[in-house]
Amino acid sequence: MKCPACRDVNNHVIDSRLGKDGDVIRRRRECEHCGRRFTTYERVEEYLPSIVKKDGRREPFDRQKVLAGLTKACEKRPVATEVIAKSADDIERGLLERGEKEVPSSVVGEAIMKMLHDLDTVAYVRFASVYRSFQDIDEFMEELEDLLKERRGSVKLEKQPSKPAAGARAKKRGARGRSGARPV
Ligand SMILES: [Zn+2]
Repeated sequence: MKCPACRDVNNHVIDSRLGKDGDVIRRRRECEHCGRRFTTYERVEEYLPSIVKKDGRREPFDRQKVLAGLTKACEKRPVATEVIAKSADDIERGLLERGEKEVPSSVVGEAIMKMLHDLDTVAYVRFASVYRSFQDIDEFMEELEDLLKERRGSVKLEKQPSKPAAGARAKKRGARGRSGARPV
């Protein structure tokens, strides 16, 4: 993408908008050499990012997979099929607008969770409980508590008695420094 003024190829994107039909993306760019701003219209296909999985493998973004995840989470919930389809579109659009060649799979997971959070509590919890179990269960419980607090309003959740932090235990063990002497 050359600057129309100085032909320099180095520029950065200031703003990205997906066209109404979803097949063209309009970008405002700024030349890093002369500062000239210009607009490009790009075919969307070129910008669907690869999804980088946790093990480092890459796969093409699959809208169908996102749709299946949303549908599964919303099973037997009062969420219309069209709403689910629109959510999948919104997630795809969000990825396109990032304009990156590669996106970690966690970005897609988080986008699905955010979408479900707004759609249906049960669907959100279903998805999150599966999704988060591969990541951080404490974080999930926090989210869940916040979510329930939010939805129930005045109803208070009982706080779990706090356990000693893992860091503190590790420190203690380190201080003892003797094998077999497990602090309780
Ligand atoms: Zn320039």
